[in-house]
Amino acid sequence: MSLPQHTDVLIIGAGAAGLMCAANAAARGRKVVVVDHANKVGKKILMSGGGRCNFTNMEVLPKHYLSANEHFCKSALARYTQWDFIGLVLKHGVAYHEKKLGQLFCDNKAQDILDLLLDECAQAGASIYTHCEIQTITALSAEKLPARYQLVTSLGEIVCESLVIATGGLSIPTMGATGFGYQVAEQFGLGLKPRTAGLVPFTLSPTQLEQFKDCVGNAAEVSVTCGEQRFAENILFTHRGLSGPAILQISSYWQPGQSLVINLLPNINLVEYLSEQQHARPKVLLTTLMSELLTKSIAQCFCNHVSEIKPINQYTPKEIQTIADVFHTWEIMPAGTEGYRTAEVTLGGVDVDCLSSKTMEAKTQPGLFFIGEVVDVTGHLGGFNFQWAWASGFAAAQFV
Ligand SMILES: Cc1cc2nc3c(=O)[nH]c(=O)nc-3n(C[C@H](O)[C@H](O)[C@H](O)COP(=O)(O)OP(=O)(O)OC[C@H]3O[C@@H](n4cnc5c(N)ncnc54)[C@H](O)[C@@H]3O)c2cc1C
Repeated sequence: MSLPQHTDVLIIGAGAAGLMCAANAAARGRKVVVVDHANKVGKKILMSGGGRCNFTNMEVLPKHYLSANEHFCKSALARYTQWDFIGLVLKHGVAYHEKKLGQLFCDNKAQDILDLLLDECAQAGASIYTHCEIQTITALSAEKLPARYQLVTSLGEIVCESLVIATGGLSIPTMGATGFGYQVAEQFGLGLKPRTAGLVPFTLSPTQLEQFKDCVGNAAEVSVTCGEQRFAENILFTHRGLSGPAILQISSYWQPGQSLVINLLPNINLVEYLSEQQHARPKVLLTTLMSELLTKSIAQCFCNHVSEIKPINQYTPKEIQTIADVFHTWEIMPAGTEGYRTAEVTLGGVDVDCLSSKTMEAKTQPGLFFIGEVVDVTGHLGGFNFQWAWASGFAAAQFV
């Protein structure tokens, strides 16, 4: 199937942001064509949230986003809020629930969210083409106005007034992720912020893995600190290193060479607790006490840092302090991250100083828009990345 020769709006990338933009631009009466190189649209929506799509969060604030300019995201997020998307979800009768920390998930499957977007696109009259490779993009001269861009694609040539780049980030290349959006930004002289994998598990060195091998598969509710940032959530020991929500969250703030400080018992003052136990249960072994607070493997592994395992009443106050430090301030330097192979998002991207926060249009390139993850705005774990995709897609849709 070949593309029409002309359209008002051409959107490259039929993911969360692209489909949102398509439905809303078409609803304004614009002729919209969406193209994607993949065989299916919205693949990341389908794999998101463990197949249930954490589509937004009950509390969405600018502090939930990383960007070189912390103010950039505010305008779009204020004009299309979580309540707007929840309204859409209700309109389509999609059953959902709050899991924890305000995170909203589908009751059934992520396909419900993709169907909702495709339904909105169909109702508004946006056309979607898969298997479409973009070969070249050329900006047309002013005398061709209102036509501004000509594209050569594997499905034929097309001319458009507004060109929207919604090709996402680099994470999960096997799902069709490419650096295409960054190349387009470069082609038109827009700045790029360095890109790295975000919301990604950490890898540990062989020595560290050996040290924690008995903990693999074990989880704990911890707080993780890296520099100024701190997240209280679950951590999971894996065959390659550390994962779990607390780790994914902090990974977006981590720089190679930095160490993490993990409090394995953030809700207990261990000095006080163990001192009490010295009187209440003097003969109980340290490992037994710690296994009541953490899984047996984690307790055992960290107790091994203490010189000798004894009944609790045999430790001096200084030793109790040392034990507490082992559990409260576990310092670990990750070897690295698992990279884009498993990362949920890409940090960095198209420099927001080159874009209008109101329209998402490039300041120096009329008619060229960037939305979603390709832009240097990255959310925390918890539905914030989809909310950015919806909000930035909606913002651009009003001006394309
Ligand atoms: C495993 C996983 C789970 C996630 N879970 C959640 C979650 O529960 N909640 C949440 O908020 N966020 C989640 N995310 C992040 C979220 O999926 C992304 O932030 C969001 O999809 C970004 O939307 P987007 O439209 O910018 O990009 P995408 O949804 O990635 O869409 C980009 C589209 O562009 C297409 N494309 C790429 N290159 C080209 C090209 N050269 N030519 C044509 N088309 C191209 C791709 O095929 C794709 O369809 C998850 C991510 C992953 C990887």
